[in-house]
Amino acid sequence: MIILRTVAELRDAVGAARREGKRIGLVPTMGAFHQGHLSLVQRARARCAFVVVTLFVNPTQFNESADLARYPRDETGDAKLVESVGADVLFAPSVEEVYPRAYTTTVEVAPLAEPLEGIVRGTQHFKGVATVVTKLLNMAQPDEAFFGQKDAQQALIIRRLVRDLDFPVRIEVCPTVREPDGLAMSSRNMLLDDESRRRAPALSRALFAVSDAVARGETDTEVAMATGRSVLADAGIEPEYFAAVSAETLASVNVIEGETLVAIAARFGSVRLIDNVIVGAGSAS
Ligand code: AMP
Repeated sequence: MIILRTVAELRDAVGAARREGKRIGLVPTMGAFHQGHLSLVQRARARCAFVVVTLFVNPTQFNESADLARYPRDETGDAKLVESVGADVLFAPSVEEVYPRAYTTTVEVAPLAEPLEGIVRGTQHFKGVATVVTKLLNMAQPDEAFFGQKDAQQALIIRRLVRDLDFPVRIEVCPTVREPDGLAMSSRNMLLDDESRRRAPALSRALFAVSDAVARGETDTEVAMATGRSVLADAGIEPEYFAAVSAETLASVNVIEGETLVAIAARFGSVRLIDNVIVGAGSAS
């Protein structure tokens, strides 16, 4: 595996692979790898002969400077991990390489960016995400790009962005990888203190309670969500949001008929965690 820092080097490496007839896979990340990230790389490896993992802590998607400042960074450890699961390139550019000049163009995917994370973090967050993903797709020009269902709203926005702007790339959204106690893996989990780490699995337990209620035949959103709310109350968690929305449009739903995204965000001290499940017709979880 090679570590590259510049867009020119990345283009050369991808160009050479393409001339050899290789299918190019891209896995965008912000580093501090865990098994969730590695599952995306493994999936990319299974489908593509040349796998580029990007490691870029994108400043424009952080709405809190303290969150950006303490975001975990371990490039040396990350490089070993992605190499072990078969990445060909780790692209780890500097902020100046990604945003080299006075930067004016941004990509916005309204109205999908407005609810859920958009309410709490502001629409700037997904503008930052959509813009950097657009740039990474243009830099690497992959055949396929891999994202996690853990960031469900982000995945939906990226699918729409690619469709609306005619990017010639296939987007694959991979299942959320969890700790044995159900907590969704996240780079931020390592920032939790012991007590928060003990309470945090209640997020997934609340989601699974809703999912179980729907599986038993409950279609009234309020009734199904109440089962999750009581799990949260028992754990003393007041979520920033705990919502059931259409998995396609993110509009609130009163009745669970089609695929419904049940999404949650909560703070444990200064650490913010998100998680979600899909429930309803045809859902896998
Ligand atoms: P991040 O480094 O947090 O920006 O995440 C990079 C990619 O990994 C995104 O597509 C995330 O959705 C995905 N990801 C993060 N956590 C998980 C997880 N627990 N399971 C599956 N994918 C994940």
